[in-house]
Amino acid sequence: MIREAIKAASAAEAAELGKKGMVYLAGGTNINWAASRIDADRVVLLEGVLPKDINEKEGSIEIGALCTLTEIAENSLIPEALKLGAGFIPSRNIRNMATIGGNIAANRADSYVIPALLALKAEVETFEDGRMSVYDYVKNEKSSLILKVILPPFSGEIVVDRSVRSSAAYPTATVAVSISSGDCIIALGCMNDHVVRLEEVEKAVASGKLKTEADIFNAVHEKINPGDSLKETGSYRRYIASTLAAHSVRLCLGEEA
Ligand SMILES: Cc1cc2nc3c(=O)[nH]c(=O)nc-3n(C[C@H](O)[C@H](O)[C@H](O)COP(=O)(O)OP(=O)(O)OC[C@H]3O[C@@H](n4cnc5c(N)ncnc54)[C@H](O)[C@@H]3O)c2cc1C
Repeated sequence: MIREAIKAASAAEAAELGKKGMVYLAGGTNINWAASRIDADRVVLLEGVLPKDINEKEGSIEIGALCTLTEIAENSLIPEALKLGAGFIPSRNIRNMATIGGNIAANRADSYVIPALLALKAEVETFEDGRMSVYDYVKNEKSSLILKVILPPFSGEIVVDRSVRSSAAYPTATVAVSISSGDCIIALGCMNDHVVRLEEVEKAVASGKLKTEADIFNAVHEKINPGDSLKETGSYRRYIASTLAAHSVRLCLGEEA
Protein backbone atom coordinates (compact mmCIF):
# COMPACT_ATOMS: atom_id res chain seq x y z
CA MET A 1 0.00 0.00 0.00
CA ILE A 2 1.25 3.48 -0.85
CA ARG A 3 2.12 5.40 2.33
CA GLU A 4 4.21 8.23 0.88
CA ALA A 5 4.13 9.92 -2.54
CA ILE A 6 6.65 12.51 -3.71
CA LYS A 7 6.14 14.74 -6.73
CA ALA A 8 9.51 14.96 -8.45
CA ALA A 9 10.47 18.30 -9.96
CA SER A 10 12.47 16.77 -12.80
CA ALA A 11 13.46 13.45 -14.36
CA ALA A 12 16.83 13.82 -12.62
CA GLU A 13 15.15 14.11 -9.23
CA ALA A 14 12.85 11.17 -9.99
CA ALA A 15 15.84 9.03 -10.97
CA GLU A 16 17.67 10.08 -7.81
CA LEU A 17 14.69 9.06 -5.65
CA GLY A 18 14.40 5.82 -7.67
CA LYS A 19 18.02 5.07 -6.82
CA LYS A 20 17.15 5.48 -3.15
CA GLY A 21 14.52 2.73 -3.44
CA MET A 22 11.35 4.70 -4.16
CA VAL A 23 9.02 3.18 -6.77
CA TYR A 24 8.07 5.13 -9.92
CA LEU A 25 4.34 5.66 -10.29
CA ALA A 26 3.13 6.34 -13.84
CA GLY A 27 -0.45 5.19 -14.48
CA GLY A 28 -0.39 3.14 -11.28
CA THR A 29 -2.42 0.27 -12.79
CA ASN A 30 0.23 -2.37 -12.13
CA ILE A 31 1.42 -0.92 -8.82
CA ASN A 32 -2.12 -0.76 -7.44
CA TRP A 33 -3.17 -4.11 -8.88
CA ALA A 34 -3.99 -6.47 -6.00
CA ALA A 35 -1.99 -9.36 -7.48
CA SER A 36 1.07 -7.23 -8.19
CA ARG A 37 4.14 -8.24 -6.25
CA ILE A 38 5.53 -4.68 -6.28
CA ASP A 39 6.13 -3.34 -2.77
CA ALA A 40 5.08 0.25 -3.42
CA ASP A 41 5.27 1.78 0.03
CA ARG A 42 6.97 4.99 -1.13
CA VAL A 43 6.38 6.25 -4.67
CA VAL A 44 7.64 9.01 -6.97
CA LEU A 45 4.93 10.53 -9.15
CA LEU A 46 6.11 10.79 -12.76
CA GLU A 47 3.19 12.88 -14.01
CA GLY A 48 4.43 16.24 -15.30
CA VAL A 49 8.05 15.10 -15.24
CA LEU A 50 8.26 12.77 -18.25
CA PRO A 51 7.09 13.47 -21.81
CA LYS A 52 3.70 12.23 -22.93
CA ASP A 53 3.55 13.39 -26.53
CA ILE A 54 3.92 11.48 -29.80
CA ASN A 55 6.12 13.03 -32.52
CA GLU A 56 7.74 12.15 -35.80
CA LYS A 57 11.47 12.93 -35.87
CA GLU A 58 13.73 12.15 -38.83
CA GLY A 59 11.54 9.24 -39.90
CA SER A 60 11.28 7.75 -36.40
CA ILE A 61 8.26 7.99 -34.11
CA GLU A 62 8.98 9.12 -30.56
CA ILE A 63 6.48 8.26 -27.86
CA GLY A 64 6.71 9.90 -24.42
CA ALA A 65 6.93 7.36 -21.60
CA LEU A 66 3.73 8.71 -20.03
CA CYS A 67 1.61 8.17 -23.15
CA THR A 68 -1.37 6.02 -22.27
CA LEU A 69 -2.32 2.91 -24.20
CA THR A 70 -5.51 4.68 -25.34
CA GLU A 71 -3.49 7.60 -26.74
CA ILE A 72 -1.25 5.14 -28.58
CA ALA A 73 -4.15 3.09 -29.95
CA GLU A 74 -5.78 6.27 -31.29
CA ASN A 75 -2.82 8.20 -32.73
CA SER A 76 -2.42 8.22 -36.51
CA LEU A 77 1.41 8.28 -36.35
CA ILE A 78 1.53 4.91 -34.57
CA PRO A 79 1.97 1.77 -36.73
CA GLU A 80 -1.08 -0.52 -36.83
CA ALA A 81 0.80 -3.35 -35.08
CA LEU A 82 1.39 -1.27 -31.96
CA LYS A 83 -2.10 0.25 -32.05
CA LEU A 84 -3.48 -3.27 -32.07
CA GLY A 85 -1.31 -4.40 -29.14
CA ALA A 86 -2.16 -1.28 -27.12
CA GLY A 87 -5.85 -1.91 -27.68
CA PHE A 88 -5.83 -5.54 -26.56
CA ILE A 89 -6.16 -4.92 -22.77
CA PRO A 90 -9.95 -5.32 -22.59
CA SER A 91 -10.71 -2.65 -19.97
CA ARG A 92 -10.96 0.90 -21.33
CA ASN A 93 -10.40 2.26 -17.80
CA ILE A 94 -7.06 0.47 -17.62
CA ARG A 95 -6.06 1.53 -21.15
CA ASN A 96 -6.85 5.16 -20.20
CA MET A 97 -4.43 5.04 -17.25
CA ALA A 98 -1.74 2.50 -18.24
CA THR A 99 1.35 4.09 -19.81
CA ILE A 100 3.76 2.65 -22.34
CA GLY A 101 6.75 3.28 -20.03
CA GLY A 102 4.98 1.49 -17.19
CA ASN A 103 4.06 -1.41 -19.44
CA ILE A 104 7.67 -1.96 -20.54
CA ALA A 105 9.08 -1.51 -17.01
CA ALA A 106 6.45 -3.82 -15.48
CA ASN A 107 7.90 -6.39 -17.91
CA ARG A 108 4.95 -8.72 -17.58
CA ALA A 109 4.91 -11.98 -19.47
CA ASP A 110 1.37 -11.23 -20.68
CA SER A 111 2.17 -7.74 -22.02
CA TYR A 112 0.36 -7.06 -25.27
CA VAL A 113 2.60 -4.10 -26.00
CA ILE A 114 6.09 -5.58 -25.58
CA PRO A 115 5.78 -8.21 -28.37
CA ALA A 116 4.71 -5.51 -30.85
CA LEU A 117 7.60 -3.26 -29.74
CA LEU A 118 10.10 -6.10 -30.20
CA ALA A 119 8.75 -6.84 -33.67
CA LEU A 120 9.10 -3.15 -34.56
CA LYS A 121 12.71 -3.10 -33.22
CA ALA A 122 11.73 -0.31 -30.82
CA GLU A 123 14.21 1.37 -28.52
CA VAL A 124 13.91 3.18 -25.20
CA GLU A 125 15.75 6.27 -24.07
CA THR A 126 16.48 6.00 -20.36
CA PHE A 127 17.74 8.59 -17.93
CA GLU A 128 20.58 6.55 -16.47
CA ASP A 129 21.60 4.14 -19.24
CA GLY A 130 20.96 6.11 -22.45
CA ARG A 131 19.42 4.42 -25.45
CA MET A 132 18.94 0.67 -25.81
CA SER A 133 16.57 -1.72 -27.55
CA VAL A 134 13.35 -2.60 -25.75
CA TYR A 135 14.54 -6.19 -26.13
CA ASP A 136 17.71 -5.48 -24.08
CA TYR A 137 15.66 -3.58 -21.49
CA VAL A 138 13.23 -6.44 -20.87
CA LYS A 139 15.71 -9.32 -21.35
CA ASN A 140 18.15 -7.79 -18.86
CA GLU A 141 15.33 -6.82 -16.45
CA LYS A 142 16.47 -3.20 -16.39
CA SER A 143 14.80 -0.72 -14.06
CA SER A 144 16.24 2.55 -15.36
CA LEU A 145 13.84 5.45 -15.82
CA ILE A 146 12.30 5.30 -19.30
CA LEU A 147 11.92 8.76 -20.83
CA LYS A 148 10.64 7.83 -24.26
CA VAL A 149 10.14 4.98 -26.70
CA ILE A 150 11.52 5.29 -30.22
CA LEU A 151 10.14 3.43 -33.22
CA PRO A 152 12.73 3.44 -36.04
CA PRO A 153 11.46 3.50 -39.62
CA PHE A 154 10.15 0.04 -40.42
CA SER A 155 9.32 -1.48 -43.74
CA GLY A 156 8.19 -5.05 -43.80
CA GLU A 157 5.35 -7.25 -42.63
CA ILE A 158 4.12 -7.54 -39.05
CA VAL A 159 1.47 -9.76 -37.49
CA VAL A 160 0.32 -9.21 -33.89
CA ASP A 161 -2.09 -11.65 -32.28
CA ARG A 162 -3.12 -13.33 -29.05
CA SER A 163 -5.17 -16.26 -27.85
CA VAL A 164 -7.74 -15.62 -25.10
CA ARG A 165 -10.46 -17.87 -23.72
CA SER A 166 -12.96 -15.01 -23.38
CA SER A 167 -12.95 -11.29 -24.11
CA ALA A 168 -11.96 -10.29 -20.55
CA ALA A 169 -9.62 -13.20 -19.75
CA TYR A 170 -5.87 -12.94 -19.43
CA PRO A 171 -4.23 -14.26 -22.60
CA THR A 172 -3.05 -17.85 -23.07
CA ALA A 173 -0.38 -16.61 -25.46
CA THR A 174 0.59 -13.34 -27.15
CA VAL A 175 2.67 -13.09 -30.30
CA ALA A 176 4.21 -10.59 -32.67
CA VAL A 177 6.12 -11.59 -35.79
CA SER A 178 7.91 -9.27 -38.18
CA ILE A 179 9.77 -9.94 -41.40
CA SER A 180 11.84 -7.14 -42.89
CA SER A 181 14.81 -7.14 -45.25
CA GLY A 182 15.81 -10.73 -44.64
CA ASP A 183 15.30 -10.43 -40.89
CA CYS A 184 12.70 -12.23 -38.78
CA ILE A 185 11.55 -11.51 -35.21
CA ILE A 186 9.24 -13.83 -33.29
CA ALA A 187 8.23 -12.46 -29.87
CA LEU A 188 6.11 -14.69 -27.69
CA GLY A 189 4.40 -13.80 -24.41
CA CYS A 190 2.95 -15.81 -21.49
CA MET A 191 5.51 -18.62 -21.76
CA ASN A 192 8.22 -17.51 -19.28
CA ASP A 193 8.65 -14.73 -16.72
CA HIS A 194 8.90 -12.17 -19.52
CA VAL A 195 8.14 -11.92 -23.23
CA VAL A 196 10.78 -13.94 -25.09
CA ARG A 197 12.21 -13.99 -28.59
CA LEU A 198 12.77 -17.31 -30.34
CA GLU A 199 16.10 -16.38 -31.89
CA GLU A 200 17.02 -19.76 -33.38
CA VAL A 201 13.60 -20.16 -34.98
CA GLU A 202 13.86 -16.58 -36.27
CA LYS A 203 17.15 -17.40 -38.03
CA ALA A 204 15.74 -20.60 -39.53
CA VAL A 205 12.70 -18.72 -40.88
CA ALA A 206 14.82 -15.85 -42.25
CA SER A 207 17.18 -18.26 -44.04
CA GLY A 208 14.26 -20.15 -45.55
CA LYS A 209 15.05 -23.39 -43.68
CA LEU A 210 11.62 -23.45 -42.08
CA LYS A 211 8.84 -23.10 -44.58
CA THR A 212 5.75 -25.10 -43.80
CA GLU A 213 3.42 -24.30 -40.91
CA ALA A 214 4.05 -27.80 -39.49
CA ASP A 215 7.82 -27.27 -39.51
CA ILE A 216 7.50 -23.88 -37.82
CA PHE A 217 5.06 -25.33 -35.27
CA ASN A 218 7.53 -28.12 -34.38
CA ALA A 219 10.47 -25.71 -34.10
CA VAL A 220 8.53 -23.36 -31.79
CA HIS A 221 7.11 -26.27 -29.77
CA GLU A 222 10.62 -27.52 -29.11
CA LYS A 223 11.75 -24.14 -27.75
CA ILE A 224 8.96 -23.43 -25.24
CA ASN A 225 7.83 -25.25 -22.15
CA PRO A 226 5.27 -23.23 -20.19
CA GLY A 227 4.03 -24.51 -16.85
CA ASP A 228 0.41 -25.12 -15.85
CA SER A 229 -1.65 -22.04 -15.04
CA LEU A 230 -4.77 -21.87 -12.89
CA LYS A 231 -7.08 -22.83 -15.75
CA GLU A 232 -4.82 -24.31 -18.44
CA THR A 233 -2.30 -27.13 -18.52
CA GLY A 234 1.23 -26.43 -19.68
CA SER A 235 0.83 -28.77 -22.65
CA TYR A 236 -2.33 -26.95 -23.78
CA ARG A 237 -0.56 -23.57 -23.49
CA ARG A 238 2.44 -24.95 -25.40
CA TYR A 239 0.22 -26.25 -28.21
CA ILE A 240 -1.77 -22.99 -28.49
CA ALA A 241 1.37 -20.80 -28.47
CA SER A 242 3.11 -22.94 -31.10
CA THR A 243 0.03 -22.87 -33.32
CA LEU A 244 -0.37 -19.10 -32.91
CA ALA A 245 3.31 -18.43 -33.65
CA ALA A 246 3.45 -20.75 -36.67
CA HIS A 247 0.27 -19.28 -38.14
CA SER A 248 1.53 -15.72 -37.57
CA VAL A 249 4.83 -16.49 -39.32
CA ARG A 250 3.00 -17.90 -42.32
CA LEU A 251 0.71 -14.85 -42.47
CA CYS A 252 3.76 -12.61 -42.25
CA LEU A 253 5.36 -14.48 -45.14
CA GLY A 254 2.18 -13.79 -47.08
CA GLU A 255 1.34 -17.49 -47.15
CA GLU A 256 -1.98 -18.12 -45.47
CA ALA A 257 -2.29 -21.72 -44.35
C1 LIG B 1 -7.39 -5.49 -14.51
C2 LIG B 1 -5.99 -5.32 -15.06
C3 LIG B 1 -5.65 -5.99 -16.21
C4 LIG B 1 -4.35 -5.86 -16.74
N1 LIG B 1 -4.04 -6.55 -17.86
C5 LIG B 1 -2.78 -6.47 -18.34
C6 LIG B 1 -2.37 -7.21 -19.49
O1 LIG B 1 -3.15 -7.96 -20.06
N2 LIG B 1 -1.09 -7.06 -19.94
C7 LIG B 1 -0.21 -6.24 -19.29
O2 LIG B 1 0.94 -6.12 -19.72
N3 LIG B 1 -0.55 -5.57 -18.22
C8 LIG B 1 -1.79 -5.65 -17.73
N4 LIG B 1 -2.12 -4.96 -16.62
C9 LIG B 1 -1.06 -4.24 -15.91
C10 LIG B 1 -0.86 -2.79 -16.26
O3 LIG B 1 -2.10 -2.19 -16.54
C11 LIG B 1 0.06 -2.56 -17.45
O4 LIG B 1 1.24 -3.32 -17.37
C12 LIG B 1 0.36 -1.06 -17.58
O5 LIG B 1 0.80 -0.76 -18.88
C13 LIG B 1 1.36 -0.55 -16.59
O6 LIG B 1 1.52 0.85 -16.80
P1 LIG B 1 1.33 1.91 -15.65
O7 LIG B 1 1.64 3.22 -16.24
O8 LIG B 1 0.01 1.79 -14.98
O9 LIG B 1 2.49 1.41 -14.68
P2 LIG B 1 2.63 1.60 -13.10
O10 LIG B 1 1.68 0.71 -12.38
O11 LIG B 1 2.62 3.05 -12.72
O12 LIG B 1 4.14 1.05 -12.94
C14 LIG B 1 4.44 -0.29 -13.29
C15 LIG B 1 5.94 -0.53 -13.00
O13 LIG B 1 6.75 0.20 -13.91
C16 LIG B 1 7.58 1.15 -13.23
N5 LIG B 1 7.56 2.35 -14.09
C17 LIG B 1 6.50 3.08 -14.48
N6 LIG B 1 6.87 4.01 -15.36
C18 LIG B 1 8.20 3.88 -15.54
C19 LIG B 1 9.16 4.55 -16.34
N7 LIG B 1 8.83 5.58 -17.15
N8 LIG B 1 10.44 4.13 -16.28
C20 LIG B 1 10.81 3.09 -15.49
N9 LIG B 1 9.95 2.43 -14.69
C21 LIG B 1 8.65 2.82 -14.73
C22 LIG B 1 6.92 1.34 -11.87
O14 LIG B 1 7.84 1.73 -10.89
C23 LIG B 1 6.38 -0.05 -11.61
O15 LIG B 1 7.40 -0.90 -11.16
C24 LIG B 1 -3.41 -5.06 -16.08
C25 LIG B 1 -3.76 -4.36 -14.92
C26 LIG B 1 -5.03 -4.50 -14.41
C27 LIG B 1 -5.39 -3.76 -13.14
